[in-house]
Amino acid sequence: MSESNLKDMSQLVSLAKRRGFIFQSSEIYGGLSSCWDYAPYGIELKNNIKQKWWKAMTLREDIVGIDASIFMHPQVWKASGHVDGFNDPMVDCKSCKSRFRADKIDVTAPCVVCGSKDTFTEPRDFNLMFKTQMGPVEDSSAQVYLRPETAQGIFVNFLNVQQTMRKKLPFGISQIGKAFRNEITPGNFIFRTREFEQMEMQYFIKPGTQKDAMEQWRELRFNWHLSNGIRKEKLRWYQQTGEDLAHYADAAYDLEYEYAHGWGEMEGIHSRTDFDLKTHQEHSGKNLMYTDAMDNNKKYLPYVLETSVGCDRCLLAVMSDAYRLENEGDKENERVVMKFHPSLAPVKVAVLPLVKKLEEPATKLFQDLATEFAAEYDVAGSIGKRYRRQDEIGTPFCITFDFDSLEDNAVTIRDRDSMKQERISLDKVKEYLRNGLV
Ligand code: ATP
Repeated sequence: MSESNLKDMSQLVSLAKRRGFIFQSSEIYGGLSSCWDYAPYGIELKNNIKQKWWKAMTLREDIVGIDASIFMHPQVWKASGHVDGFNDPMVDCKSCKSRFRADKIDVTAPCVVCGSKDTFTEPRDFNLMFKTQMGPVEDSSAQVYLRPETAQGIFVNFLNVQQTMRKKLPFGISQIGKAFRNEITPGNFIFRTREFEQMEMQYFIKPGTQKDAMEQWRELRFNWHLSNGIRKEKLRWYQQTGEDLAHYADAAYDLEYEYAHGWGEMEGIHSRTDFDLKTHQEHSGKNLMYTDAMDNNKKYLPYVLETSVGCDRCLLAVMSDAYRLENEGDKENERVVMKFHPSLAPVKVAVLPLVKKLEEPATKLFQDLATEFAAEYDVAGSIGKRYRRQDEIGTPFCITFDFDSLEDNAVTIRDRDSMKQERISLDKVKEYLRNGLV
């Protein structure tokens, strides 16, 4: 059997549309550039990723979660440096007027859109924050921003959380939420969009322990991605140094995935020192010092180790990694199969009666399974076509209910990856699935 991986993003875009994972936003109006809607299977997959992350990042004694509001006091973004410094350098092609990020293209080469050799404009700073008005009066005092990252919602709540939860260092605060950036060149499907979701955790630590914390979190986060079924050889670390390193960080690593368009950052692990708490303490005038009962009641600002992963980029990696094209060109045996890790698969089991006549007992089985598993019922079309559909959705198990089932109280369970079929007695089906879905 021949098998190939995802070669081109268009294969995934097409599957995502055809099988109900991801649709273009406002498609009936011609779509809105680089905005995407999660369709029924896509949102199940995304929710599974978020829940798995949330469990890994809050079901621990030392981490709690919050959900901060998207709008924040405008001073937050002044203090964080985003108002003055959250810029990308932008250049325009003088010929076709296409816009690019100067740090992402070779500005000495011809324009990739029109081929013109007539150089680009000088780079200008472009602030990536979306602005809007809060309240009915359109004056500048009511100007607010759509948050460009979720992290600041955690920093400004540091003291509230620490005191109400009676937390001692080291402890962390996790959050999942939308972030917005007016990216100059969005693209590569859901890799770079202007509205996206982040899963961030800020770990507050004693100054001086940041190197250990970095090592600990790099290992944990790497293993988390492996637990999603991502192949190890598709992941690599990129260490930010010199000019790459953000002004607030004393160390930073990007975890990159090899997407169809090339290697790209999926998660960032940043050692942010006390920059954030210090700047908020200065701008707000509130004392954010931590009193260390374990160290003679010394008062200091904790350091922060951040893990920040884009939910959509993580989902794109999960889908890209799961994609397999088997037996290409062989009409009979060609199939696309999404080999999702069972913990993430949007549908865990499909019940397929062989023919319509068997609907009644098959529906009963489906209803029973649906109380425990994300299950689907499908009676339309040939059994082969129904298998292919479930393969593209990435359903780990298909159960066929046939005429023999009425006699022997057993069904055939087909494994998505090996396509092997096993006859299992009805009273053992749930146990079989439980064992197979871990
Ligand atoms: P890039 O260099 O790709 O612009 P970044 O370094 O600005 O990313 P961070 O600010 O570290 O990204 O954000 C943390 C995570 O949020 C990234 O690792 C990525 O997964 C996600 N992310 C950032 N920008 C976008 C975007 N425009 N679309 C989708 N996800 C994004």
